[in-house]
Amino acid sequence: MSYLVFARKYRPMLFEDVVAQEHVTTTLQNAIRNERVASGYLFCGPRGTGKTTTARILAKALNCSEGPTPTPCGKCSSCTEITSGSSLDVLEIDAASNTGVDDIRSLRENVRYLPASGQKRIYIIDEIHRLSAAAFDALLKTLEEPPPHVIFIFATTEPTKVPETILSRTQRFDFKRVSAIDLARHLGNIAEKEKMVVEAGALKTVARKADGSVRDALSLLDQIAAYAGEKITEADVIAALGLVDSQLLFDFTAAIAARDSKAALGLIDTAFQAGVDVNDFVGELMEHFRLLMVLKADPELASPLGLTGDDMARLTEQAGYFQIGDIIRLMKMGADLNYDLKSGLDHRLVLEVAAVKMAEMEATVRLQEILTALKDPTGTNGRGDLFGQSEKKKG
Ligand SMILES: [Zn+2]
Repeated sequence: MSYLVFARKYRPMLFEDVVAQEHVTTTLQNAIRNERVASGYLFCGPRGTGKTTTARILAKALNCSEGPTPTPCGKCSSCTEITSGSSLDVLEIDAASNTGVDDIRSLRENVRYLPASGQKRIYIIDEIHRLSAAAFDALLKTLEEPPPHVIFIFATTEPTKVPETILSRTQRFDFKRVSAIDLARHLGNIAEKEKMVVEAGALKTVARKADGSVRDALSLLDQIAAYAGEKITEADVIAALGLVDSQLLFDFTAAIAARDSKAALGLIDTAFQAGVDVNDFVGELMEHFRLLMVLKADPELASPLGLTGDDMARLTEQAGYFQIGDIIRLMKMGADLNYDLKSGLDHRLVLEVAAVKMAEMEATVRLQEILTALKDPTGTNGRGDLFGQSEKKKG
């Protein structure tokens, strides 16, 4: 039996199986039910969120021997051919590798033919924004007067680069980045089907790392299963993906909050001894700061990030050590640090300098405190007090 990666093995076959894009799939099903299917669709959204998968399901729904139907059978010759990519009526074009006007011209010749066996000829053009201007023009002529048996489904990660003339002739659907909670649940279901035992913390870590992409989440799960087998702990995930242990991020941030540059440098030493990749560390640290910022701005926003229980309590505690202005300045320093790491300077040196800068950073003085001090120059909240405090901090 050949080995199938999870992303292929668990590719959704029905609209209902597409993860967390109900606003799109329900509308498409209703359009099929009500015989209001458009001749052109534009699916927008981040990579790995189900755009081409949904396009293929739509193609099956229209050409199924039982169709058009919102629930394609998956068994008839049309459905199985579309699944295997051998259907003569469903053509997939990757605009990233077919940017030329010639391809679109041959497509224009091609659309004249009636469907070979299904009811529609369906053209799925992925990364449509990559087409050249001339190719767009050629395509537009077909889009303006599409033969009744033709349906175009365009997909793009960058809708702002799609010309207005295409936008105005298609129905647009926006696919969302999938939340960490939905991803973790999806991964949990697959793990169960695969009879894998995966810790909840491990699922959450993979889900967060996948950053909204179902495809990435499943590839990561493949990678971890290859590493750890059928029993997967959070520590396995950290080791398999070369992630930075979250304890290190908490400790490092605590050192900065305590203005303890010695402790911060000690932690960098520990990280280097453990072989942590500097770029990964900085990336994860920025993500940690980002979580603190989100929690500080609005704790409600944190739960869709997949934070629960322990992590949430610890992050909330750390967020309490900083003003939001401090966190933003730390993130700015992190961005500078990322830039410096590309400069060819010694990574350890760059990181150590940044760590000391972060630890020595003065806490943001709230605007309100300054205003109060200026209004009352002689009082206890006066200028003397304010400047006296910052003098002390410098020392
Ligand atoms: Zn079918």
